[in-house]
Amino acid sequence: MTYESSISFAKKADQEDPLKKFRDDFHMPQYKGKDMIYFAGNSLGLMPKMSNSAVSDELEIWAKTGVLGQHNCWIDYHKHLTQSTATILGAKPKEVVVMNALTINLHLLMISFYQPTPKKNKIIIEHGAFPSDQYAVESQIRFHGYDPNDALIELRPREGETCLRTKDIIDTFNQHGDSIATVLIGSVNYYTGQAFEIEKITKAAHNVGARVAIDLAHGAGNLDLDLHNWEVDFAVWCSYKYLCGGPGSPGGVFVHEKHENWDGPRFNGWWGNKKATRFIMDSKFDPIVGAEGWQISNAPILAMACLRSSMAIFSNAGMPAIIKKSKKLTGYLEYLIGSLKDKIKIITPKDSKQRGAQLSLVVKKNAEEVFNGLNSNHIICDWREPDVIRVAPVPLYNSFVDVYRFYEIVKDLTK
Ligand SMILES: *Cc1c(COP(=O)(O)O)cnc(C)c1O
Repeated sequence: MTYESSISFAKKADQEDPLKKFRDDFHMPQYKGKDMIYFAGNSLGLMPKMSNSAVSDELEIWAKTGVLGQHNCWIDYHKHLTQSTATILGAKPKEVVVMNALTINLHLLMISFYQPTPKKNKIIIEHGAFPSDQYAVESQIRFHGYDPNDALIELRPREGETCLRTKDIIDTFNQHGDSIATVLIGSVNYYTGQAFEIEKITKAAHNVGARVAIDLAHGAGNLDLDLHNWEVDFAVWCSYKYLCGGPGSPGGVFVHEKHENWDGPRFNGWWGNKKATRFIMDSKFDPIVGAEGWQISNAPILAMACLRSSMAIFSNAGMPAIIKKSKKLTGYLEYLIGSLKDKIKIITPKDSKQRGAQLSLVVKKNAEEVFNGLNSNHIICDWREPDVIRVAPVPLYNSFVDVYRFYEIVKDLTK
């Protein structure tokens, strides 16, 4: 696509956008009486208009049928989310289940897949990983009686660089060799916006005998994923960011088919038990084959109903079209901001395979003032200490005109 820096170009691109109708499926929030220009879908995705009725339908079943709703509608409710989730992640349906929240799921899968020994106890993560991931893995290491100062290896960019090079990641694996038990990597780093080359990283980690976990918080619904074919061991995500599931909406897990008959350590609960014997309360734990075997408790139906309404939009639009527009839209933002390069530095990789929708911008002067100025102009994006503004044009509801408006305002604010 050849871009032009003009409102007429942006309007034309919107007219020709095959996904333009989906913007109407979402509520556009307001700020001081005007529609927001919303670029914070990487923190909390917008609310689908269908979410209200999706939730009230389940409330009505509760009102009208009480416990019969449990038997007739809710026992397998999570399965309504399975196919659409599997499609988004490039997984087989039996490899995924929607449950709990991201960090809880990370702990549950680490309990199974991280079994350190004196010779093999290291965990590799990105330096500057999301704090929750850092806390989770440090506590896992301590739980097993090891010291994070020895067992936690952090991948750092080269001096003067902000993103990690895949080659350096792989060199670190080779350097630590078979002392590595687990590699945990974000699909997109929340701060820099860098999307990691999961396939290459997974292969390299497997070559030294490590298991690979992916945190898809910023990847699910944002990147073109193929977890099954990449042979990722396990993955976790949340659904309130790009997936628009609503505040605190349920996360999920991916467990590769190769682990489907897991008989190693696992924290069990009745919902992971085969349905046929689940209600024989004194029976021995007989796990469901595949990811569902990691379920513990019965599902939060109202929250899942909300998520179901957004997953329907994803299924309608289709990931290939979403990714296609995302690349164009974020490319447009990059093109426009590129003309302000003495004022703003983009720290997210240029290579569109190494990023999703988000660009992380470092404003060289008066960054906080610029950020506040954006807010006063109804633009909602977010600020990360010390100096980064994260901007995420989301293909399902952002437009080329949104991006152009952002550019005009940021240009004015950095004059
Ligand atoms: C958003 C996010 C989380 C959130 O964790 P919850 O358990 O859902 O609160 C975790 N990790 C990363 C990388 C995130 O971006």
